[in-house]
Amino acid sequence: MKKYEFILKDLDCANCANKIKETLSKNEKLKNVNVNFNTLKLSYETDTLSKQDVEKIVQSIEPEVTLVENKNFKNKKMKKTTSIFEVIRLVIGLIIALLGIYLPLPNIAGTIILIIGYLILLYRTIKNAIKLFISSKKINENFLITISVIGAFLVGEKFEGLMVITLYEIGKILESKAINKTRKSITELMDIRPEYANLKISENESKQVSPEEVKIGDTIIIKQGEKVPIDGIVQKGSASLDTSSLTGESLLYHVREGDKVLSGSINEQGLIELEVTEDYENSTVNKILELVENATDKKAKTETFVNKASKIYTPIVTLLAILVAVLLPIINKGITYSESVYRALIFLVISCPCAIAISVPLSYFSGIGKSSKSGILIKGSDYLDALKDIKEIAFDKTGTLTKGKFEIRKIDVYDKSYNEQDILKYTVMGESFSNHPIAKSILKLTNINFNKEDVKDFKEISGRGLSYTFNNNKILIGNSDLVDYNKDKTEGTKIFVKLNDDVIGAVSLADTIKEGTKDALDKLKEKGIKIRIFTGDNKRIATRVADELEVKNVESEMLPTDKYQALQKLIKKYKNTNNKVAFVGDGINDSPVLALADIGISMGGVGSHSAIEASDVVIMTDSIDKINEAIEISKKTSKIIKQNLIFAIGVKILILILSTIGLAHMSLAVFADVGVTLITIVNTLRILR
Ligand code: ADP
Ligand code: MG
Repeated sequence: MKKYEFILKDLDCANCANKIKETLSKNEKLKNVNVNFNTLKLSYETDTLSKQDVEKIVQSIEPEVTLVENKNFKNKKMKKTTSIFEVIRLVIGLIIALLGIYLPLPNIAGTIILIIGYLILLYRTIKNAIKLFISSKKINENFLITISVIGAFLVGEKFEGLMVITLYEIGKILESKAINKTRKSITELMDIRPEYANLKISENESKQVSPEEVKIGDTIIIKQGEKVPIDGIVQKGSASLDTSSLTGESLLYHVREGDKVLSGSINEQGLIELEVTEDYENSTVNKILELVENATDKKAKTETFVNKASKIYTPIVTLLAILVAVLLPIINKGITYSESVYRALIFLVISCPCAIAISVPLSYFSGIGKSSKSGILIKGSDYLDALKDIKEIAFDKTGTLTKGKFEIRKIDVYDKSYNEQDILKYTVMGESFSNHPIAKSILKLTNINFNKEDVKDFKEISGRGLSYTFNNNKILIGNSDLVDYNKDKTEGTKIFVKLNDDVIGAVSLADTIKEGTKDALDKLKEKGIKIRIFTGDNKRIATRVADELEVKNVESEMLPTDKYQALQKLIKKYKNTNNKVAFVGDGINDSPVLALADIGISMGGVGSHSAIEASDVVIMTDSIDKINEAIEISKKTSKIIKQNLIFAIGVKILILILSTIGLAHMSLAVFADVGVTLITIVNTLRILR
């Protein structure tokens, strides 16, 4: 099936976004439908339906909404023109209606002028209500407001009806402004999208093209002050790159010929030419943007619950309204039907769960945007929500708690027919095919030439080492387990070289703990989180690292499958609670564990696409303290969502009670309703601070 993506232009109401998604999902000709209220994106797959067909379905729910191509969409411009028109209409309508009420005219003339004013004010609401009713026989907020206004007019509350529609329209305009402002602040936080690339077309000529047009193998030029648009390798020149938009840390990063450069960073100083190694689609910057924009597609439990609750809210309030209108005069003889109908109309005014429907998804979007800015990519609202409930974290050791930058301490030769250089050479030959931090460190430290084609049957033995054949000799490189060597003699991280049946030597390695790790773990402990270390390394090293970090629970000599089982046990322990278990790793040979954990967190995301894919939360830097930051953002987001829910629901219940006993005016209800929506949106903005 073909995949399509459009922007839902003029979609203001989060509630409608949910309805649009639901209705489209029910259509059998559409698959994988997604509507994102925050980014206004609609995506689906289909073979049979045209854009017009889909637009028609969308408009049966929200008549104002149109589908526009993603590329042609400029949110700012389009919004401005519509809201200016709305403001003018509002002012003119209001003036005419007031003239109708206050001008000393004969009764009939005054009423006619008033009705004209009403109609101008009600224009948009009535139009939407009628359109929707004709296309799908449904009623919505617009319909209810229209009824309330006309109702107020008919029971003689002319001024009241006028206030209702005016306040409602002002609320709508402010609301769409506030939502756009929030969306803009969030996208500004993530302002890493490159606008162009300087494509080199001849020795001293280049032209600006859009990043999508550049192909693998092309050469692009990045001048001082420009963004790196696509991933590549430096061919010529050198530069200092600012990666803060990716990592949240403003460290300058120096690159020269042969170095890999990731898109999204900014060239602070220098001039470089890059050979493009990935197309834009697969470049780091696009991967990150996609991830953040789609993150809120994955709904958190709170959100699903709120969606369900708001679906029954409207029918319940409408039902209550009917009861109030019918029963009040029967219960209390002092109340007339015109009075009880008026009170019931107030119920209709507040029957839209708008404040809640908007503020919850917007809060998650803000939390995710805020974390991205700090170099923490969270892949879904549910993970953002779950971070605050973490009770235990298991850490991988190498490359996670330690730097993963090994130094060679010593080379042992056990078989005198070889020398140190031979031991190192066998090691390097194997490691040059591995991705493990050990391999990367050794290759960086040594400079041994050999023919890569001589290395045959290379196999990585996850969590233990590797094997290959060379000149018909079977060679094993790895820990004592792999080569069957007496464990007791092992000190430090040692990798052994076994040639056929004999262990001929070993390379001793040393790794250091990352700076700031102990403090970061202490802070996690203060939050009541239990820390564990899971490592494939030997017991002595594991204990030493654990002692230094004051971690009590440490398990060593684990294969990736052992880590998997140990984590499974942990998760089982918290099965029927709200507590979550996280695993933190570097994405190398621990992808299954990252996937199994309630929250899989990978570190050092810059540079590793596989880590970005395997985990739920990607920390772009090497700093463990980012986990604390992520948990704090999670807590703040959830606190603000709770505040908004309690405030919105509280005010609505209060108004329902006041209007039942006759103490609330209809205009107060509208004021409270739109006011609550605005206040919750503004409160949501606090997450970004
Ligand atoms: P950790 O759990 O600390 O991240 P791993 O599971 O990645 O460690 O690896 C466990 C052990 O296996 C390492 O300490 C090392 O002894 C051995 N090992 C793994 N990969 C390699 C490799 N490419 N070369 C040599 N030894 C390796
Ligand atoms: Mg590891």
